[in-house]
Amino acid sequence: MPELVILGSGTGIPSLRRGAPGILLISKNGRTVIDSGSGAMRNMLKAGITYREIDLLLYTHIHPDHTADLVPILFACKYGDLPREKGLTCAGGPGFRRHFNKIRRLYGSWIEPATYPLTIKEILSKPLQWGEMKVSSKSMTHLPGSVGYRIEWSDGRSVVISGDTDVCENIVSLASGADLLILECSFPDEKKVEGHLTPSLAGRIARESGCRRLLLTHLYPVCDQYDIVHQCRQVYSGEVILGEDLMRIKI
Ligand SMILES: [Zn+2]
Ligand SMILES: [Zn+2]
Repeated sequence: MPELVILGSGTGIPSLRRGAPGILLISKNGRTVIDSGSGAMRNMLKAGITYREIDLLLYTHIHPDHTADLVPILFACKYGDLPREKGLTCAGGPGFRRHFNKIRRLYGSWIEPATYPLTIKEILSKPLQWGEMKVSSKSMTHLPGSVGYRIEWSDGRSVVISGDTDVCENIVSLASGADLLILECSFPDEKKVEGHLTPSLAGRIARESGCRRLLLTHLYPVCDQYDIVHQCRQVYSGEVILGEDLMRIKI
């Protein structure tokens, strides 16, 4: 049964309770990491996985709170005690390749793999088939090139990850009937910010999509001063899980 570990349930704003965004997905098809904010690689180690074991790195968008550990991961793959040998695929939405090429120019040989194959991909309208896992994406309302992902296994299980987004039709359709919907929930209802969700908006998306369970993450520090789950439950009657760092959830 696929299992996920929340590497960071917070944002780019430091919090002693919540690390920057990152999700580790463990299944028969290997280890997938979705977003790797600052500290994600270290929290992976706490979850029992090293940088050498990541097979697929997916990025929802290129904001620093979601990508800060990309360069350190590639640096570690090159200069760690044991050089990485198995291939690594690194993928994002439209524009990801251009972003990666900029990083490549900036860091050059420090991140250029010498002992393993590195593949850079953009997941556009055509889904990525990864063993028994199908990864499809839709654009989100946040930043040009922002995407959410739907990951489906051949046995029908599914998980949907919004990344950062405001309310939009695409997240509702992407999440249709999902076993687990992971939504960003940046601010409490009282403090809505454009480009992000609040608990009641997340609840509305969950209700309209007909997902089975809802997990709230990407919580700014202010969220911890409010009863986020209560706000969400006013709108959505299914199970609501408040994300915490290193929480494990079976899909
Ligand atoms: Zn963010
Ligand atoms: Zn963002």
